[in-house]
Amino acid sequence: MRYGDLVEVYEDLEGTSKRLAKTYYISAFLKKIKTDEMEHLMLLLQGRVFPVWDERKIGVASRLVIKSINLASGMSVAKIETEWRKVGDLGEVAKNLIKRKTQATLVSIHLSTSKVFDNLVKLASAEGKGSVDVKVKLIAELLTSAGPDEAKYIVRTVLEELRVGVASGTLRDAIAWAYLYKVKYNEKKKSIDLSAEERVKYNEAANAVQGAYDVTNDFAVVAKVAKTKGLKGLSKVNLKLGNPVKVMLYLKAKDMHEAFKRIGTPLQVEYKYDGFRVQVHKDAGKISVYTRRLEDVTAQFPDIVDVVKGHVKGRSFILDAEAIGYDRKSGKYLPFQNISQRIKRKYNIDEMAKKFPVELNVFDMLYYNGKNLLDEPFSKRRGLIERIVKPRKRSIVPAACLVTSEVKEAEKFYKEALKLGNEGVMVKKLDAIYKPGARVGYGMKVKPVMESLDLAVVGAEWGEGKRKGWLSSLVLACKNKKGEFVEIGKVGTGLKEKEKEGVTFQQVTDLLKPLIIKESGRSVRVRPSLVIEIRYEEIQKSPTYSSGYALRFPRVVRIRDDRAPDEINTLEDVEVLYKQQK
Ligand code: AMP
Repeated sequence: MRYGDLVEVYEDLEGTSKRLAKTYYISAFLKKIKTDEMEHLMLLLQGRVFPVWDERKIGVASRLVIKSINLASGMSVAKIETEWRKVGDLGEVAKNLIKRKTQATLVSIHLSTSKVFDNLVKLASAEGKGSVDVKVKLIAELLTSAGPDEAKYIVRTVLEELRVGVASGTLRDAIAWAYLYKVKYNEKKKSIDLSAEERVKYNEAANAVQGAYDVTNDFAVVAKVAKTKGLKGLSKVNLKLGNPVKVMLYLKAKDMHEAFKRIGTPLQVEYKYDGFRVQVHKDAGKISVYTRRLEDVTAQFPDIVDVVKGHVKGRSFILDAEAIGYDRKSGKYLPFQNISQRIKRKYNIDEMAKKFPVELNVFDMLYYNGKNLLDEPFSKRRGLIERIVKPRKRSIVPAACLVTSEVKEAEKFYKEALKLGNEGVMVKKLDAIYKPGARVGYGMKVKPVMESLDLAVVGAEWGEGKRKGWLSSLVLACKNKKGEFVEIGKVGTGLKEKEKEGVTFQQVTDLLKPLIIKESGRSVRVRPSLVIEIRYEEIQKSPTYSSGYALRFPRVVRIRDDRAPDEINTLEDVEVLYKQQK
């Protein structure tokens, strides 16, 4: 397919904020796609070149893109930077410069989507000496054959910043419209009209797509099955060892009474460990470890690989567990902050594993020796864990639990859990299935009133004087119902100068710098990617920020690199907390 055809869809998508209109544009596009083009087109449509769970990333900073624009357009780096500051979007800058150039030369080369995709994949694999040059050339090659609009989207895709607003729910519906259920879309009114009966069928189709997506995390696979095998095919899409599955999420209960009421008795109470979630796959001897963001961290955790190898029986399985750090001397659990550095670590891994050992607390299972366990009741899955995990303290254990029908007993267990340094407890339904990716009420967390929020950083300011060269005064945002980032305050307090003391300015600056999308004076806007846990004294109503709320005395607690920006606290959470404090 011509890249220009895809660009037209991007333009249509960018031109509307209406979800139904977006769904319509995508579904019309999907109908045109040939099956063998599905894979790369579905990824490009989402502004990616790898599925979410693939550890490869494009990983190109703005500076490098500027060099490529320089090479392709002949415009000086200084001039490009000035334009960038003015326009705020490197994609637009590339578009303008390429427009000037093509008007002068009148070249027209047909750039194909597969050529764009291939170069982007190559970008991700270029490493080591000379790789900067290779990358600059790969991007410049595309820009040289691109028209103005094409250049804009190439740059945005390279920067992993497509911004045409394709949420996964929209893609899901578009696949259903395109291949499973014909929807009459009224372009003028931008609406669809379904009778109650039709609505049921339509929901059925959308749910089938969602179900297949939850176990594969790959829209290309799902779209292909929907197109070639329909509803029946989708229902057969199964877990695949080595492909991480979205984890099941839990609801929050106000207190133990509410949890009991919602879950029903008897139920299982478990410690809620303050570590990070891992999904461990074993496939014929090969063990892989994934985070809840589906990132492959096998290389970072050779200790987890070893312990699973030695202490879990079975040819093949998928375990859901919480890895928690502990102090080697005292044996006490350590807060998440201490081991979180292991997740991103690329070197001195064995040393890190010795310094920050983890204990694996296995609390669920999704697959065992060729059998999918998602539809088995929780009590059965738990029973299996007890049979196959050979417990060894501070190494691997089934999550500590209690089965009870008595609130009093559960309360006692909860107190015990807190005393041992846990965050609280999880209360789980014994006959519940495992629903990947869903925040269903099959389990509820009970923990002391939340006094912290996980927020995304969307902007910052360059420091002055002693803090020159560091970004501080971080602009924080939560997420509203539409998935947009809305601001809720600024924070500088809690950032440290020395590494020993906690989260440092340098650390935050290093993480934010590649995310900068706009600079004006000292302030910068950044792509929402960094998630930070913030404590505060109080939530106030405020006209200053787009959320309508502000935090009083906010303070940085820790970087949550186990959280994706779409997993941050919502405006609804903030509203609930605001009311609770009254
Ligand atoms: P939250 O992050 O507050 O939504 O709480 C859910 C998280 O608690 C899960 O994603 C796990 O990482 C963690 N967790 C700790 N212990 C357990 C447990 N026993 N069962 C389930 N999740 C647990």
